[in-house]
Amino acid sequence: MLSLVAILMSHMETRLTKKRQAILDALKSKKAALSAAEVHALVPTVDLATIYRNLEFFASQKLIKKLQLGTQEARFEFQHEPHHHAVCGQCEKVIHFTAPDQKIIELLGIKNFYVEELEVTVRGNHKSHV
Ligand SMILES: [Zn+2]
Ligand SMILES: [Zn+2]
Repeated sequence: MLSLVAILMSHMETRLTKKRQAILDALKSKKAALSAAEVHALVPTVDLATIYRNLEFFASQKLIKKLQLGTQEARFEFQHEPHHHAVCGQCEKVIHFTAPDQKIIELLGIKNFYVEELEVTVRGNHKSHV
């Protein structure tokens, strides 16, 4: 027989799972790197602290990527495909790009090393900024 506590606990867990799923779905729907505040704007029913905590949790579980690209706060991204980033120092916009990873690994020329993950962050400025 389920105790009242167990029922309450499972109810709380279900609510937590729903919140988690809502946060993850919001991130999946946007092909972009978002700050916790931007995720909060997509899921306004979940408070910012909970969103931040869950984003950190997802990142620790490698479900999403935590990116520290510029001077601003960390951004979180669900990567539909692994890719690299270029960030503009003027407008802080992020360019998401893929590159032939095998070629990069060859160019790096690291010996006796098995590359599990390759992530390039390029810093610069849009040519349109004069
Ligand atoms: Zn720019
Ligand atoms: Zn990206």
